[in-house]
Amino acid sequence: MTPEKADLILKNTTIVTQNSRREILNNGALAVVGGRIAALGPTQEILKGYSAEEVLDLTDQIVFPGLINNHNHLFQVSTKGLGEDMPVQDWVEVVTAPTAIHIQPEEMYTFCLAGCLEAIHCGVTTIVDMSYRAQRYEMHENNIRAMLDSGLRGRYTTIISDFGVEFGVLPELISPIDWFIEQYMRLHTQYPATDRMAVWLAIGAPWTITDEGLKETIAYANSTRTPITMHINENGVDNQISMDRHGMNMVPYLETVGFLRPDLLAIHNVVTDPADIDLYAKYDVKLSYNPVSNMYLGSGIPPMIDMYKAGLKIGIGTDGAGSNNSLDMMESMKVAALLQKVAARDASVVDAQTILDWATCDAARSIWLEEEIGSLEVGKRADLFAVALNSSKVVPVHDPVASLIYSCGEQNVVLTIADGKILMKDGIIQHLDEKAILEQCQISATLLSDRCGSNSKVTRRWRPGRLK
Ligand SMILES: [Zn+2]
Repeated sequence: MTPEKADLILKNTTIVTQNSRREILNNGALAVVGGRIAALGPTQEILKGYSAEEVLDLTDQIVFPGLINNHNHLFQVSTKGLGEDMPVQDWVEVVTAPTAIHIQPEEMYTFCLAGCLEAIHCGVTTIVDMSYRAQRYEMHENNIRAMLDSGLRGRYTTIISDFGVEFGVLPELISPIDWFIEQYMRLHTQYPATDRMAVWLAIGAPWTITDEGLKETIAYANSTRTPITMHINENGVDNQISMDRHGMNMVPYLETVGFLRPDLLAIHNVVTDPADIDLYAKYDVKLSYNPVSNMYLGSGIPPMIDMYKAGLKIGIGTDGAGSNNSLDMMESMKVAALLQKVAARDASVVDAQTILDWATCDAARSIWLEEEIGSLEVGKRADLFAVALNSSKVVPVHDPVASLIYSCGEQNVVLTIADGKILMKDGIIQHLDEKAILEQCQISATLLSDRCGSNSKVTRRWRPGRLK
């Protein structure tokens, strides 16, 4: 029997499938055809059935499904090192908002691409990005172009805001609701949804939109069947303002206007009480857990275990680099576990397997892509990464999943493949000039911070070299 032709074969490796039985294959192989997994099984069996020009021997490596970072603000890569250790209001008004207002289209491309590079280094293959209001339409295009050029699977959103000056939203980030709907109509025409890229709706927070704006956003979402994502209850502000504006807490208010729905991705949910959890469960709302950001901004600890027990679908996000200082999903997975353990004062409250689920198969459910990604199974997209077991940070390995969550760092990720395409091999980005992109990122970030004043509260004891 002649073997079938595959585009790529991975062999001699341990494969953590994340299938429904959570099987782990020893000495496994995987054949990729047309961006999908065509076969998966023992190496000898796969090599009998398939041949390929590119065969990677992954001895002493472990393969996992590609990680899904389900909340991010890529442009905030430019603010690494500018916003830490300051009150959240300064963080918004001095650092992130001025950056969003003054960023130029080419800078947008560079920062977003640099962010995607870090994602690839972490084994991330899917990213949900939330951009702020675009000062020019080109901003959308360059943000999306960076995501496409990176080779990652992406979901792009841009924040709708028609309200909120009294709560600190800068006027440049606000427009009438119709302006945003027009932007979205244009985006949806220009970028029809594909497996690789789709445009979703985003609202920054419930207090940055009028009741009318919220209703129009819901109507547009319903008519176009577009998912919505929003920061909800990141801290106590949402409930305070909702109590003033609507006489009830935020999540119950959102139910009254028909905002709670299965295709809502609710981000943060730090201040979430049992009544909120019941409502989320009633409407099958999806969740994004951003532990590093919640700690970085001093926001608090979201009750993820209660929400998990209520059957809610949870994914993990890094949030933007502005409230993290990196986009390191490996770090976020570990912190995701540790934060819940310390909240419960019980190390057994969440295990490594559950955290990996939140970053892979459950995360896929949180963004409605479970048919395509989130596990390594025949027919699914070939989105995966491998870690090497040759580092003192990792050795010895007794359980691949525990090693990934608690021992590995992004430096241990050696291979990243999205949609069957090798984005990184032997730790080296294959399709982009990483060095040049990072040099441009440094130059652009320094110039932008000078220009918009986002470094005005930072005592600078050092200037980067090679700047004009
Ligand atoms: Zn965010």
